[in-house]
Amino acid sequence: MIGPMATTGKAGSRDPLAPYRGRVGSNLRDRLTWALQLAQRPAETITPGDLENLRYEMAAALEAGGHKTESVESPRIPDAEEAQAIHARLKDFFEKLLEEEEIPLDGSLRKQVYKLNRGSGKWERWELGTPNSVDALLEQLIPPYGHLIRECEAPRALGKGERCGVWFVAKRDWQTFCSARCNNRAGAQAFREKKKEKEQKNRRRQKRRRSATSRPSSSRGARRPAASRPPSDLPGRPLPTAAGPARKRRDSSRKVASSYGPRPDSTAPN
Ligand SMILES: [Zn+2]
Repeated sequence: MIGPMATTGKAGSRDPLAPYRGRVGSNLRDRLTWALQLAQRPAETITPGDLENLRYEMAAALEAGGHKTESVESPRIPDAEEAQAIHARLKDFFEKLLEEEEIPLDGSLRKQVYKLNRGSGKWERWELGTPNSVDALLEQLIPPYGHLIRECEAPRALGKGERCGVWFVAKRDWQTFCSARCNNRAGAQAFREKKKEKEQKNRRRQKRRRSATSRPSSSRGARRPAASRPPSDLPGRPLPTAAGPARKRRDSSRKVASSYGPRPDSTAPN
């Protein structure tokens, strides 16, 4: 079961967790991604061989979380039954988190005490007892990254209205899809929906226009705004006479002179 990576461990091939540390990730975000992926694995797809690997991965993750007091010398590796229970409880935990429900930590036997360190002569705060394994796995991960856990809402590649549904840790607060592929698929769908909506809007508008032209003319006239009424309706302006255009032509010939000084035949009072 111990692969070629075993020799890269600090304690050589005698360190059973060495091949598994890389799998659970070297930073908090990667470790949370590991936990999310594990939680989403259907129990029926986990073979006895997978379960054997999972036991060691869980131990490596617990160790990375600082729960290694026992595991440095002799790693405390969960047995198969415990590993299955952790798997089920992780799923339950993330389901509640995504529903924004309160998440109780059942079976956590932690006890906080103050103890006098006789060497330094100072009081120290200690945590005794055994934490719930899920609590121990997630205590460092949820406060900084819990709000970035998302369920991918992108449409599934060949699903009919189904969603991708993968749980992931968003890299940015606005990231809503698990991968570039899901992002593209969701973008294409949004474009299609927008186009469809536009077409429906156009169809409705055309229908309205058709029904408006078939309405009786009297009702149309009443709704027309004042500005578009014929000029004869407007008050205060004299109607154009037959002589109007002819006089205007004569006036324009005199206008050239008037722009340079008073008109010689001006009758305007001074
Ligand atoms: Zn996705």
